[in-house]
Amino acid sequence: MSKLSYERPFIQKLNTGSMNKFGTKTEFSPVSQLDGVPVKKLTDEYGSPLFVISERQIRKNSQNANRAFKTRYPKIQFAWSYKTNYIDAVCNIFHQEGSWAEVVSVFEYKKALRNGVSGNNIIFNGPDKSVEDLELAVDNNSLIHIDHFDELYSLVELLSGGKKKARVAIRVNMDTGIYPMWDRFGFNYENGQAWNAINKIMAHPELELVGLHCHIGTYMLSTSAYATAAYKLCDLAKHIKLSYNLVVQYLDLGGGFASSNTLKGSYLQGADIIPTVDDYAEAITSTVLNAGFKQDELPTIILESGRALIDDAAWLIGSVLATKRLSDGRRATVVDFGVNLLFNAFWYDYKISPAQDFTHHTEDMALYGPLCMNIDCIRESVNLPLLNKGDQLVVHKVGAYNMTQWLQFIQMRPNVVLIDMEGNVHLVREKESIDTIIQQERMPEYLKKK
Ligand SMILES: *Cc1c(COP(=O)(O)O)cnc(C)c1O
Repeated sequence: MSKLSYERPFIQKLNTGSMNKFGTKTEFSPVSQLDGVPVKKLTDEYGSPLFVISERQIRKNSQNANRAFKTRYPKIQFAWSYKTNYIDAVCNIFHQEGSWAEVVSVFEYKKALRNGVSGNNIIFNGPDKSVEDLELAVDNNSLIHIDHFDELYSLVELLSGGKKKARVAIRVNMDTGIYPMWDRFGFNYENGQAWNAINKIMAHPELELVGLHCHIGTYMLSTSAYATAAYKLCDLAKHIKLSYNLVVQYLDLGGGFASSNTLKGSYLQGADIIPTVDDYAEAITSTVLNAGFKQDELPTIILESGRALIDDAAWLIGSVLATKRLSDGRRATVVDFGVNLLFNAFWYDYKISPAQDFTHHTEDMALYGPLCMNIDCIRESVNLPLLNKGDQLVVHKVGAYNMTQWLQFIQMRPNVVLIDMEGNVHLVREKESIDTIIQQERMPEYLKKK
């Protein structure tokens, strides 16, 4: 007989007078405070919609991930993935927790420099690095992760004849059993292209091969894919040692760990199916430890985890603009945040909670944003208590890829605040105004109104 797992008892407040677990659903409870700060107070001061970031949760996630890896392996380095959330305050919390910067454009690169990250702690990834970008990275002694042969040749040309050296790694793509394969980035392992790139780098003494990199996908639900990736990087590293007697300093396993959000179409809730950071750490570190490196030649493992460290550290507060009935009788609720602010609503079924007390009468409804576009739908069908104009909502786990992929479309981007460890609220990105947009525009003389 299989053993039943223990579930702790818990006490839940039931709103008197309304239906509860003896009647209808009790799956909602109002979320009227975020990290101890009342939602109402936040919107009174900073408006609606409003992004709210939790410093406490960021530090907790970062420390938990470091613990998971460092208790299993002696040499671990995290690098914050800027594109996941490059609000400077967020980046600096990660840097304070010991993370380097991982960037994929010169814009992000300069942001990292401005944040005080020293050049040799910046990892420059991605397929788009101009000669000037490469020069900047070389001058700052950054880690250049080469994506394609054209980049390799540009780098060789840039360094030819001079005395400068570049610290480089190659991005490797590979079959890890996850499809479609992300083989558009980097050099392929199976067909020998990665080895070809390594030989070309070794033929140029001005290129110092210091690491091997891969980033196999995002929201990866399989830990064994990481074991496979680590195995293949170890294999390359060992061949480099054999052929060139060069010890590769680090293996960078990229990011891609899943956050606890629920993907659209997923039957189970994200939180119930995703591996923990410990599961990923176990798969990666045991593969590298078992690969047969000499003790003093163990490579550092670098992780570029983005989504998993920030998604649950931010909320979006919004307000109900209107309620209506669609022609088929379904209820629709129109709110003041749309896909302009929650770009990832295209992939995730975001969890949404009312911010005030409500009766437990619920109804399936469509949740629409404020844009005058049919695509602006946050949830096609979500079971929520009935909401009225002016009611507030909290969208959970919005920290990854929304505050970078947000669109300035029809609406301006709103304020972003950070709640610090003491519960103080700080404005970390001011809302845009018409001036933000207009200042970039130029009017040809002949079109100016006379
Ligand atoms: C986007 C990206 C990351 C972060 O990925 P997550 O899925 O957010 O963890 C890390 N490394 C590289 C190269 C990336 O492009």
